[in-house]
Amino acid sequence: MLDLSRQYSAIRDEVLAAIAAVCDEQSFILGPEVARFEADAAAALSVPHAVGCSSGTDALWLALAAAGIGPGDAVITTPFSFFATAAAILRCGAQPVFADIDSHTYNLDPQKTEDILRSTRLRIKAILPVHLYGQCADWDAFAALQRKYGLLLIEDAAQAFGARWNGHTAGSLGDAAAFSFYPTKNLSAFGDAGLVTTRIAALDDRMRTLRNQGMRRRYFHDEVGWNARLDSIQAAVLRVKLRYLDAGNQARRNLAANYDRLLGKIEGLALPFTAPQAEHIFHQYVIRAPRRDDLRAHLSAQQIGTEVYYPVPLHLQTSLASLGYQPGDLPNAERAAKETLALPIYPELTEAEQQQVAHAISTFYA
Ligand SMILES: *Cc1c(COP(=O)(O)O)cnc(C)c1O
Repeated sequence: MLDLSRQYSAIRDEVLAAIAAVCDEQSFILGPEVARFEADAAAALSVPHAVGCSSGTDALWLALAAAGIGPGDAVITTPFSFFATAAAILRCGAQPVFADIDSHTYNLDPQKTEDILRSTRLRIKAILPVHLYGQCADWDAFAALQRKYGLLLIEDAAQAFGARWNGHTAGSLGDAAAFSFYPTKNLSAFGDAGLVTTRIAALDDRMRTLRNQGMRRRYFHDEVGWNARLDSIQAAVLRVKLRYLDAGNQARRNLAANYDRLLGKIEGLALPFTAPQAEHIFHQYVIRAPRRDDLRAHLSAQQIGTEVYYPVPLHLQTSLASLGYQPGDLPNAERAAKETLALPIYPELTEAEQQQVAHAISTFYA
């Protein structure tokens, strides 16, 4: 499914030199290397402010908390995402409200979002769309909802570093955005790491304060923050990998086009749909497949790794039962959880390996 050693062997000397430079500098938490990574990331994303932090989960929390979301507020988000999207809302003391997804892109459906905005008595303060699998959510529609209802828009861009919507980068679309550098992401650290971005100087200041125990001056705690800091070794690794990211994302797009060609004739499969405004970076290549679990077992028996992102939609997670959702409430998300399968895709995957995957899939259905 993912062989990180291929990337590592190509950049090993550069990464080890960058780590050695941090060890020589002896500044491990925040510090100059983190500031250099933040500058590089801001330039790559064309956003004025980028704040390094400890994980994608903390990045979501920082974005929401800095935007002032707290107890008594509600945030509309997608039920078809990694759990952290909802957990971060709860961590702020706010309530997640789920709107169903679009069944072609698997992203939060703006129409379903507006249905909730029209009918709810909750105090909806923000919308948190996820750019799932590396394709931006329908930002034309969400920007229109923002103008109409006066809400905050926060991006969960954990899977979308380098993706664009109408030419604008993920991370520059909303009021704030959260990125993850978990080792499986398309830009990945050697451990946990994350980033928050914003166009708004006041949010940047508050994110920096919240990630470091609410301090602007050492030991003067202006508010209750958290330890959500980025360490310098992760920043050094990320600075190296950032230089290869555009090429990696282009390789992902080429691989996706290969899969489209190789799998296009297999009846019953639904291949990924890319909206015309989107520049998809194919963090994942996700098909909708009949008899998904049997197909997965068939591939696994041939040493082909696949993954289900995600088998249980958030509104049906045990830990969120108190929100009161029932099976059937969000049918598109529930169907996607049962039918979708992510195939291997990463820049170093070879075309021969893709052919093996495609062949194994076609023999399963034949
Ligand atoms: C990975 C991911 C996160 C969480 O990031 P961590 O770095 O693992 O905390 C949040 N949202 C989405 C959509 C993700 O894919």
